[in-house]
Amino acid sequence: MPREDTQSQQKMKEHNSMLLLNMIRREAPISRAELACRTRLSPTTVSMLVEELLEKKWVVETGAGSSGSRGRKPIMLEINGKGGCIVTVEIVSNGCICSLYDFCLRKLRSVRMKQSGQMSRDIIEEIRVLLHEQRVALSRLVAISIIFPGIFEAETGHILFSSVIPTELLERDLPDKIRKGFPKVRVIMDNDTRMMTLAESFSEGYVPGTNMLAINIDEGISAGVILKDEYDDIKICNALEAGHIVIERNGRKCKCSNQGCLEAYCSVNALLRDLNEQAGVELPYEDVWGSEVNAESLAKAAGLYQAGDPGVRKVMGEYIFNLCCGLFSIANLFDVRAIHIGGRIMALGEHFLDEVRKTLAEQFRFVKSGEVVIEQSHSGYETIRQAAVRTAMDLVFSSH
Ligand SMILES: [Zn+2]
Repeated sequence: MPREDTQSQQKMKEHNSMLLLNMIRREAPISRAELACRTRLSPTTVSMLVEELLEKKWVVETGAGSSGSRGRKPIMLEINGKGGCIVTVEIVSNGCICSLYDFCLRKLRSVRMKQSGQMSRDIIEEIRVLLHEQRVALSRLVAISIIFPGIFEAETGHILFSSVIPTELLERDLPDKIRKGFPKVRVIMDNDTRMMTLAESFSEGYVPGTNMLAINIDEGISAGVILKDEYDDIKICNALEAGHIVIERNGRKCKCSNQGCLEAYCSVNALLRDLNEQAGVELPYEDVWGSEVNAESLAKAAGLYQAGDPGVRKVMGEYIFNLCCGLFSIANLFDVRAIHIGGRIMALGEHFLDEVRKTLAEQFRFVKSGEVVIEQSHSGYETIRQAAVRTAMDLVFSSH
């Protein structure tokens, strides 16, 4: 057989194998017959490929399912949770969080690490400890997924910039160094906002086939969009620099050195500053990502807002108008039908969301009779990590 034919046959086999594996992941428990029916592969092909997946221990048989029409109970298949593990490494403002997951997205353990001079060395050491403690053989670790709040080179994962972590604290070649510590493990770098958006698309609140904007409002503002494609089933996540959309020409100076950015008006600390300056409150705040001081002050502001404090309400009215300017721009650009708002700002509660809906409808004439749904984000830190695990599994499974 010519080499090209052998290669394309091999590719086709890998493709089909991944198709089955992903269907088992989503639909388990599922029988071979059902797999053949759903994927339109022949029963012989399904049997052969499933046999290989069983050999690799990625899939297990779970005994007989419910009785079929002919009375014979089929053997069901599901993902073998113990088949392999994935580590997520979230880079946060003062260190990182390493978590170990099995193939069934079950978290086995999570450890928070403080910032140090040599993060890569500490991360490698911590991952070894995690595996040892959980009695997972190194050969079962298939991927390490680094979740980074900033931008990096797509090919190499070399860190370029983060607006939330000072550059001097970052090792530019972090992925390379971790690869050296685990030469046989796939090391992946992904953006935190992209993972947040992906997590939102896996949540119950996402209506398949809808263009959706997921926006997180903390000390910074990040967002991603899920776009339906012509087949209605492929999701594309674009991490947007939503915080730096200009909503006011020649407006407030932003830390990106531009003027009038959404973030300069609508970050959590911008809101706290406005409340202090214009509503006569004394709520301490700082320009630090993930600040506890800001969280406490925001909770107090939420109390005053919900109690109807007139000064706070006035500032909130302006805040919401500015936020809607940003939402309106992005939503029109991508023709989104759903906006999911998350992050620390949601401490302001359902009343805040109601006001956002009202402002978009009345002042922007945007939300007509349920045309655009605005709701609270469903994803949290845990679902973001799980999205990273799923992405890593897709990559690993597609290359075997
Ligand atoms: Zn800016």
